[in-house]
Amino acid sequence: MPKYDLREKLTILADAAKYDASCASSGAKGARDNRPGLGSTEGMGICHSYAPDGRCISLLKILLTNYCIFDCQYCVNRISSDTQRARFTVDEVVTLTLEFYKRNYIEGLFLSSGIIQNSDYTMEQLAEVARKLRQEHSYRGYIHLKTIPGASEELIERAGRHADRLSVNIELPTEPDIKKLAPEKKLTDIEDSMSEIKTRKDAEQSDRRQGFQVPTFAPAGQSTQMIVGATDTPDRSILDTSNRLYTRHRLKRVYFSAFSPIPHADARLPGQAPPLIREHRLYQADWLMRFYGFKAEEITTAEEPNLSLDLDPKTAWALRHRGLFPVDINKASREMLLRVPGLGVRNVKRVLQIRRFKSLRLSDLKKLRVPLKRAKPFIITSDRNPAADWIDSVDLAKRFEPKLKQLTLFDAASGAATGEL
Ligand code: SF4
Repeated sequence: MPKYDLREKLTILADAAKYDASCASSGAKGARDNRPGLGSTEGMGICHSYAPDGRCISLLKILLTNYCIFDCQYCVNRISSDTQRARFTVDEVVTLTLEFYKRNYIEGLFLSSGIIQNSDYTMEQLAEVARKLRQEHSYRGYIHLKTIPGASEELIERAGRHADRLSVNIELPTEPDIKKLAPEKKLTDIEDSMSEIKTRKDAEQSDRRQGFQVPTFAPAGQSTQMIVGATDTPDRSILDTSNRLYTRHRLKRVYFSAFSPIPHADARLPGQAPPLIREHRLYQADWLMRFYGFKAEEITTAEEPNLSLDLDPKTAWALRHRGLFPVDINKASREMLLRVPGLGVRNVKRVLQIRRFKSLRLSDLKKLRVPLKRAKPFIITSDRNPAADWIDSVDLAKRFEPKLKQLTLFDAASGAATGEL
């Protein structure tokens, strides 16, 4: 490997880390450090994530090395790629993190790596970075460590003792996809590592409930990343896998990352990225499963296994189930209100509170900023709502078709962050 100075390594290894979407820290309250502060928007390797409360979190996002013994076809760091390689030492990562943190450029570290020698050897180095930061430098900032599938239980334990969040990337949604594009990886290794993290967290929580003082273990939980569009696996299977990971391993988040074409790629990979809106629709569907009481199999159908790109998944579901609408906003259950297009979790809560004292009219919903254009055909209010008569009209779906508009990154980010549907 050529000799690079620290700055050159940072350029290479920050660039190599940009493909990993699983570093957003949503749902992760500063578990070890509650100090306020905004990250700088400057500087390579610093990524910004938005927590559900709107806080901007800046992380130094780097790989320990982009050398890798595996040959995953969708990955720019695969062994057969002719990309420029570099490797940090443990001490270099520690120094960079501390220096950036002291300058208030970052609030935390996101550290991943290609696989060097084997899973345990790589994991040991990642865990050692976290240990040194915590124990030798009393670092209180956020740490997100990538967990290498197949690493030993002891190393996962060591990593979780010092990191706030751990993530094991599943990368591809189905076992056949993994076999096809990442033949050295095993779904069982990936899920075993997730399961180990869950077991450790469960044990920690159970000890605490019994009043024992035990060290924290990955207080911000675990997440994963799934690449979308590298194979023709439909959204139905992607949501199915997400649902399984949420329920079986209690993941905090599944992040979707649209496949980006890489140089000299395998002929089995698509030549272009899927539309950004597909990733956005998957995030919307993910919110429906986690906060709106939808089951994975309800969101798409066997006949239409992909999410509509024109309609958000809640509106698409409501249009398929018109017989259940319009619902009376003043009487419907919380579960049913959550299924009304445009009524988000926050507004459903407000509706339930307000209707204890008064009957809601359209004007009340307007004051709550409910997007009436979407909600009106599906609700009855205490005043006359003529739009409720449209529920049987054959061209109702047309009313929701979007005007041609380029989806901006801001649209996608805010939808993913707020999840109001
Ligand atoms: S193991 Fe990770 S870094 Fe290595 S080739 Fe596969 S995806 Fe890339």
